[in-house]
Amino acid sequence: MQAYDDNNVFAKILRGEIPANKVYEDKHVLAFEDIHPQAPVHILVIPKGKYISIDDFGLRATPEEIKALYEAVARIAAEKNLKENGFRTIANTGLHGGQEVPHFHVHVLGGRALGPMLSRKES
Ligand code: 5GP
Repeated sequence: MQAYDDNNVFAKILRGEIPANKVYEDKHVLAFEDIHPQAPVHILVIPKGKYISIDDFGLRATPEEIKALYEAVARIAAEKNLKENGFRTIANTGLHGGQEVPHFHVHVLGGRALGPMLSRKES
């Protein structure tokens, strides 16, 4: 697996080197608004640890870190009033997954009906 890039934009947000609109933070997790929202609610939930992708996180993170990430998603969904009508979580991974930032993140999207899961433009 590739090495973690300390200069990725989310590492800079975690170090406070660039700003972000934070919506939740605890010992293991930071969540902030996506800079280019694709829905009325578009939050990025990231572990504070240096994990590149969901598979890296799943294999190397501690149970405490994994639980904290899922709990943060649940808290954000409740706080943003997404539970009644539902929401979508996405973890893009690698080249085919369209991952742009090589620090594991979960997109939490909601606030409107989001349509089909995948774009039908390419197959
Ligand atoms: P990916 O394509 O890697 O799954 O998603 C990366 C997300 O990070 C994109 O939705 C993009 O808009 C968001 N993003 C990229 N740079 C920044 C930034 O500097 N600040 C914030 N808040 N979001 C960013």
